[in-house]
Amino acid sequence: MSRKTLTASLTGAALVTMAAVALVPGAAQAIPENSHCGTEAGNNNDAFVDHAQLTKALEQLERTSGGVVDVEVVGQSNQGRDIYSARVGEGDTVIYVQTQIHGNENHGTEALLNLLHQIGGSSQEARELRENVTIVGIPRLNVDGGENDTRQNAMSWDDVVAEFPQLAGVEPAWNYRASVPGFDVNRDFNPDLDYVPQPEDFPGNSADTGWYITPEAQTSRDVYRELEQEFGTVDYFVDLHNQWSCYKQAGTDNMSTLSISGRFIDDPTEFGDWPAFDYDASRRANVAVYDALQDQGSSAYGHLTLYPQDTNLPGTALGSFALRGSATVLFETSSQTQYDGSKRNGFLTKQVELGLKGLIDAVADGSIDSIDPEDYEEIPQRVYLPAD
Ligand SMILES: [Zn+2]
Repeated sequence: MSRKTLTASLTGAALVTMAAVALVPGAAQAIPENSHCGTEAGNNNDAFVDHAQLTKALEQLERTSGGVVDVEVVGQSNQGRDIYSARVGEGDTVIYVQTQIHGNENHGTEALLNLLHQIGGSSQEARELRENVTIVGIPRLNVDGGENDTRQNAMSWDDVVAEFPQLAGVEPAWNYRASVPGFDVNRDFNPDLDYVPQPEDFPGNSADTGWYITPEAQTSRDVYRELEQEFGTVDYFVDLHNQWSCYKQAGTDNMSTLSISGRFIDDPTEFGDWPAFDYDASRRANVAVYDALQDQGSSAYGHLTLYPQDTNLPGTALGSFALRGSATVLFETSSQTQYDGSKRNGFLTKQVELGLKGLIDAVADGSIDSIDPEDYEEIPQRVYLPAD
């Protein structure tokens, strides 16, 4: 069939399907373990908005939505960059979404910008969503790491001691990397929002709580605290990350371009009394994301997997906020700026967008309450593949 005849014979609906497939060449095909992934030239960071562009995009979002999307400066990084929040909707249920706590993990930021644009729009669907949920996003919490293309923020141990003199002479925090210098901000959280750093709690370790010594974690905590005061509980907390590029689904030959999880705390009683901790609410939220991505036809969007479940990470934002009663969802998009080119960016960003939108929809229409949390256990496991 000639191209002309083919096009002429397609219905409108089929054309839409074709267009969607064309955006992700080969994505629906199974990719063998010898996948040539993780070996592309890097510098993928250039494909994403930098800080100046992010600032401009948010200003524009606020302006074009007529203030429906409300943008605020909520903190400053150690290098003096503004950290923003963007809020949309007036519903009684709040979804707090944080992106790029690791500076070299960009797809979530792009996805959140797209979603804010969509939900801040004038469609009937957008208006209904805004009546039922409030969405508060921090696009790119780690603004310095984003600009420097590092996982860590930009902060030396001396900077920390200058702010917390009681820490003079103690061994630096375990999540500090002197060569950057900076901290893995996602180990700096504590379920006690009023925690003050104590010398005896350093250097700490990954199985223990963090300290709020970084301005980024302090900013996230302050936003969280205000939402908790306003809503009683921060109903949902979503943290958008990236992981190693090369995984597949257990039991299939499908490459897995996204892993999710709701499990960050092994035993909540280990960290005090946290009666609002609700693991089933987290499991339901993850199933909502999973289901939304299964609804995308035969595309590879549906090949997501469960992030390893044998974790105990109370010092992460997800772990600390889960203890306080938030239903938590981790997104780990398979791609890193240092190992990937930009070929898959459109697909990877869209996958996060669709998954997150699925959660928002399920919360807005109440269908999340009828999800069986046990369905979470049916999500395929993640299998590591080496670069080749
Ligand atoms: Zn990360």
